[in-house]
Amino acid sequence: MLKQCGMHSPLHHRLKSMRNPSASLLYIIFMMLFSLAAYGQELPSQQTIPQKAQRLLQAYPDQHLKYHDNRIIFEDGTSIVFDDGKTKDFASLLDDSDIEDMFSMRYISEGTPGYLQDAGRSRCEPFFKKMYGRDAKTVSKNLVVVSWFGEKIKFSRINGAADHLKAVADEIAREHPELISYMKSAGTFYWRKVRGANRQSSHSYGIAIDIAVKQSNYWRWDHSKAGETDPIEYKNRIPMEIVDIFEKHGFIWGGRWYHYDTMHFEYRPEFFEQPRGN
Ligand SMILES: [Zn+2]
Repeated sequence: MLKQCGMHSPLHHRLKSMRNPSASLLYIIFMMLFSLAAYGQELPSQQTIPQKAQRLLQAYPDQHLKYHDNRIIFEDGTSIVFDDGKTKDFASLLDDSDIEDMFSMRYISEGTPGYLQDAGRSRCEPFFKKMYGRDAKTVSKNLVVVSWFGEKIKFSRINGAADHLKAVADEIAREHPELISYMKSAGTFYWRKVRGANRQSSHSYGIAIDIAVKQSNYWRWDHSKAGETDPIEYKNRIPMEIVDIFEKHGFIWGGRWYHYDTMHFEYRPEFFEQPRGN
């Protein structure tokens, strides 16, 4: 019985074929090719990609991004530097952000934001322009209509952003109809600079929505004379159930910023754990 099993084992066939010189040569070539292929696959292993770059690659699977040699490479072969190596103060983190800087502040889904904790306000402009469009016209081509509590609003279809916004609407309508009064849109797509700054607003890319203006607080309204690094008092009137649902679907909330903008939600999946298989 044992012998019979042995006779049919792959090992037996291998040993048997080794007696034939040409077959054994083929075997050696095959094994060499196999090891080369395995080696090639191991090259871009997780160990060689910085953790922050890995998070980016996982957050935007539709982009088929790759990391190599300190660059994020797009499907068409163009690339953007990952880490420019510069040490930046708070102002430059916002105005001159590379991809790595976007992760310099941690997005924390609880509590009042600490001094200058503004995770998500740093945006590497070339990265977002590459994904969503370099100008208003290009971004517009990728906008689709989302039904939003009786309104029709436009949002980018890129990276499934519009689908994720629809999921937010569906969940609030289903689970929290008492919150619908907060959901009136005050705008999504608008190609513009951030108020009081020279950088592009995330509304430019069709990935941000402002809601409930009447129940919202914005640091520039409440502290009109404050500069970017002045201490300011935090304010919010948006129910946290709304925030939880947006965050569940990959949106960061402007109320998590020291420089609070509580009407503002923005599709930034890189700040959340990615579901497996995504
Ligand atoms: Zn906004």
